[in-house]
Amino acid sequence: MKLSSRSQAFIMPEYNLTGDLLSFLTCNLQYRYQNKATLPPSKPVQLWFGEFIHGIMEEAYLKYNDAHKSFPWDWKKDIRPLEELIDKRLQVRGLYPPEKYYCHFTHPNNNQAQCSTNQHPHKLLYSFRAETAINKLGPYLFPLIDNAEILLKGMRTMPNYKDGYSRSNYYSINGVIDVLSSIKIEENIKPQKSLDEYKQKNIILEYLFKDEDFQNNIKKISSDKYEIIIDYKGMKRPPLNSKNWLRHNWQIQTYAWLRSMQEGSKPVAAGIIFYLNELAPSNEDLQLIQEDLKNNLSDVSGHSRDENLIKQWDVSKKYPKLSEKFMMDRCVRIIPIKDKSINFALEKFDEVVEDIENSTICELAGKNIKQSWKADADERTCNACDFKTFCDKHKLEEMTIP
Ligand code: SF4
Ligand SMILES: [Zn+2]
Repeated sequence: MKLSSRSQAFIMPEYNLTGDLLSFLTCNLQYRYQNKATLPPSKPVQLWFGEFIHGIMEEAYLKYNDAHKSFPWDWKKDIRPLEELIDKRLQVRGLYPPEKYYCHFTHPNNNQAQCSTNQHPHKLLYSFRAETAINKLGPYLFPLIDNAEILLKGMRTMPNYKDGYSRSNYYSINGVIDVLSSIKIEENIKPQKSLDEYKQKNIILEYLFKDEDFQNNIKKISSDKYEIIIDYKGMKRPPLNSKNWLRHNWQIQTYAWLRSMQEGSKPVAAGIIFYLNELAPSNEDLQLIQEDLKNNLSDVSGHSRDENLIKQWDVSKKYPKLSEKFMMDRCVRIIPIKDKSINFALEKFDEVVEDIENSTICELAGKNIKQSWKADADERTCNACDFKTFCDKHKLEEMTIP
């Protein structure tokens, strides 16, 4: 008996914006290896901290929404249980935390691992960052969230579709976002009496309403209802006009496009990215911020005191005490949404999908992984890459060091 196979037309590759497209752009080969035995697109594996902090912010919001517990939250009592929950979830997916930055023990035991004592749990860097993000953003952000973890999904025609070559004539693109809304803003105005009063009390609104593009957008929107898309990034703010700087913008534009096609959505007036490492930077983050400042690649201005402290900081010494305002200004990035920029972003991501498809087809045709996927990443990505021991690109660089 002949078994019928699925017809080609029904195989539609589904790409996740961060897990596939941004991962692929970080390094084609690393992305392929992370997908293990499966050809992409498949369940993406991201760096542990990025997944962890996303999960923590989502869980913290749900907890806030349930009990309206006031801030600040106590780390051990309120936040640590959320961390353990997320850690377990990630372990199921085969993702384990780096011991140096996250204490994964729930109780004291005989194993000290990389902690200072065996009296676990310890509040190491990643926990400190989670605590800081919840307590500094939560009070302003959580009351404005209208919808958390909305799954966005859309379909696009396969770029440069070729009969007999391309895997499908369409591809699907997806992502998960949180949405703030004018409805929630209005709800919160009541106890404050006026929007102006509320703006002064809510730093997120302060950033939003200071932004001219946002102001223009809400004037243009015919109803008075609108939405704001938010995303968290477990990294420092990228240097101005760097690859990541541009790609994060494209990501938000694409989310705005996907959201606009969902039933019941309101026009998207802006996007906000929170670069959470800025609220609790590591030594390495601060060194990179120092580099950006020295090279004039920081878009955040008006902080000469903090900037001088960082510029003059000797990286081998204890790091300088930065102002809260400086850290928050670097954490919050408002992304203007415009039709033109949405179209540009979609074109860019079409190009990325085309590149992934070409590599996939190349591998399917029998070429080996390294021939099919390009190894190219910045030094920092290579240093943290699990696959550097068998990546020729990385080896080549090592061999040239005298
Ligand atoms: S070592 Fe660098 S170039 Fe090689 S796969 Fe990893 S990130 Fe890519
Ligand atoms: Zn510990």
